[in-house]
Amino acid sequence: MTVSYQLVYSAKRRSVALQIKQGQLTVRAPLGISEADIQRLLVAKQPWIDKHLQYAKAQVAPDWLALKQLPFQQCQLTLNVQVSTQSDVRLVDDRLQVSLSSRCQAKNLGTHARKQIKRWYQQQAQQWFGQRLAYWQQEMKLTATQFVIGDWKSRWGYCNSKAELGFNWRLMMVPCWVADYVVVHELAHLRHLNHSAKFWQLVHKHYPKAREAAEFLKQNQYWMNI
Ligand SMILES: [Zn+2]
Repeated sequence: MTVSYQLVYSAKRRSVALQIKQGQLTVRAPLGISEADIQRLLVAKQPWIDKHLQYAKAQVAPDWLALKQLPFQQCQLTLNVQVSTQSDVRLVDDRLQVSLSSRCQAKNLGTHARKQIKRWYQQQAQQWFGQRLAYWQQEMKLTATQFVIGDWKSRWGYCNSKAELGFNWRLMMVPCWVADYVVVHELAHLRHLNHSAKFWQLVHKHYPKAREAAEFLKQNQYWMNI
């Protein structure tokens, strides 16, 4: 096992989690787990780690379906796909349970699963951005006329001259503090429909971590290819 990793112990954790961000592996472990245990786990997870590191290197969107793991805000969800009487997606603890109708043809299962997962993320995004928008509108004393959840390959969000905002559903795959930045960014455009110094001043006033969040999105731009 030659892969280098950062080890983070936490008293709150009950199980070990592996995370790959920007080509860097982080192991989050509960207290009391030895490095030998972690080494054993890393050996068992080697194929998953290799695949993920390759994706990061190639800047290609990871195939979450093949990896059986997918990011959801700050969590890594384990993907569980099964054939059932009807199609349905359900979150049980940190498992995303995807049921596909048995009427679905075997060769279409992958496509169908991806569609179901995407729809689920879009539903989560609708709810989450609705709540965050309500919060930030009050905080920034700015009001949008409406918002939409979009499926764009080239942008995380937008604001137009009719005060309508849009957010990419893929933002549900990034940590909340990064998605929150997009809300603040787009709301700030209601006052300045440009990227002027005044615009950035307003963003930074409400969101001091704006630079880090923008950097995170830039690094993970290739996720748009999902
Ligand atoms: Zn902008």
